[in-house]
Amino acid sequence: MLSVEEALAQILSRVRPLATERVDLVASLGRVLAEPVRSTRLIPPWPNSSMDGYAVRASDTRAGAALTVVGRVTAGALPDRPIGAGETMRIFTGAPLPGGADAVVPQEDVEAAEPRVTLRGVTERGAYVRPAGEDVCVGDLVLEAGAVLGAAEIGLLATLGRSQVEVSRRPRVAVLSTGSELADLGAEPGPAQIPNSNSYSLMAQVMEAGGTAINLGVAPDRLDVIGERIRRGREADVLVSSAGVSVGDLDLVRDALVGAGAELHLWKVNMRPGKPITFGTLENRPVFGLPGNPVSAMVTFELFVRPALLAMQGRRRLARPRVHAIAGERIANHGSRRGYLRVSLAERDGRLRARLTGEQGSGILRSMVAADGLAVVAPDTVLGTGDEVEVILLRDLSR
Ligand code: AMP
Ligand code: MG
Repeated sequence: MLSVEEALAQILSRVRPLATERVDLVASLGRVLAEPVRSTRLIPPWPNSSMDGYAVRASDTRAGAALTVVGRVTAGALPDRPIGAGETMRIFTGAPLPGGADAVVPQEDVEAAEPRVTLRGVTERGAYVRPAGEDVCVGDLVLEAGAVLGAAEIGLLATLGRSQVEVSRRPRVAVLSTGSELADLGAEPGPAQIPNSNSYSLMAQVMEAGGTAINLGVAPDRLDVIGERIRRGREADVLVSSAGVSVGDLDLVRDALVGAGAELHLWKVNMRPGKPITFGTLENRPVFGLPGNPVSAMVTFELFVRPALLAMQGRRRLARPRVHAIAGERIANHGSRRGYLRVSLAERDGRLRARLTGEQGSGILRSMVAADGLAVVAPDTVLGTGDEVEVILLRDLSR
């Protein structure tokens, strides 16, 4: 049986970056930059004041020195003249420093009786001056391809005058649920039916990973119907189905994938929840057959599909952050498979403590709702309270 790492390596070796597209800067949040960005601007373009005060020559400053105010310069204007020895100019935050000046004395540090101001002490050269190019110089490589565009990146791009940016296209991901027992949203489950939840959690995971989800709905356990849906999913870049990948007579997804022309590359992975997971390629596009249990489907998506979608978008870091926590209670993983246990995290005495979110059955979706992360626990291992445990962070802990 493959390890999680081996399976992921196989998957990543078979996914290719998607094409790129140009989008408006304001719509680029969370997208992956597809071009290196070099600055064509000097930011700030000239030395300017970081305080309201007086532009001075540092060499003129000492306690009791009286300087003559020869003008004023506000943000948005240029100084109309330089200053000479014994002179100063009223200046406001963000205004360009006049020629001859090399420091600013904040207004609260002078005795002002314009046209003269009296200084209280010495001011260092450069004080309260933001030099030209302090932030960015012409030619600086400010963002590399693969950078994820967040608020700061978007602000920086606006500074450089970029109203549009080249980003990776979002992967289109077709999501299919299989199982004759499934009733989809909008229909009350019949006496032998259960609600389809996987389509919805998986589509949400697709969107969280930057993709666009295409809902292929529910197919019953019939080879012809599953095959027809798989063919319908061909317009997508990736197909993700759930259930029907085990060894039962009605586990038909693998056969249906092969029937549609897919080449299957892996099946069983040494993990719990989720052992049966199928990965293949259909006309060079990745296809995933995830297990049906709602938690198994989500956890295998997290470990295998998400990194593939990020790689297709050109992301460099594919792994979620991992934190070292201590077990806040006994955490047991019996059996020969590596465990990915749902835990909540809380900080106490400067340490993160991990506690199980309840019963770990792979059908218990509520344990996923409460989970901040997945504790990675080796096979046949029982952690006691206080033992170290590594946790894959699934979400922002401030949530
Ligand atoms: P299977 O892999 O087909 O054996 O399914 C495993 C378990 O997951 C069964 O109990 C199914 O009823 C359940 N299951 C399969 N698909 C879904 C789904 N889309 N939503 C909720 N539960 C499902
Ligand atoms: Mg089934």
